[in-house]
Amino acid sequence: MTKSKTVIRMYGQWAGNPIGFPENPDDCIEEVWNQCGGYVSGQCSRKRGHGPGGLYCRQHGKRAELRASRSKGAK
Ligand SMILES: [Zn+2]
Repeated sequence: MTKSKTVIRMYGQWAGNPIGFPENPDDCIEEVWNQCGGYVSGQCSRKRGHGPGGLYCRQHGKRAELRASRSKGAK
């Protein structure tokens, strides 16, 4: 069995679209709520390149770093 390094994340899954949308590998991986679409979430549309692994936009990268340092128990 080949283990793929790249995990494709899925976004916007809900009852009306159980499969959702695959991640755009150029964009920030943070899941955000679509403000015009109401209850459907989707991938952040900003370019990635910041935060842990360079997977986030600048804004979400900061948040992700905070989350990561908290979950590691860093003070
Ligand atoms: Zn983002």
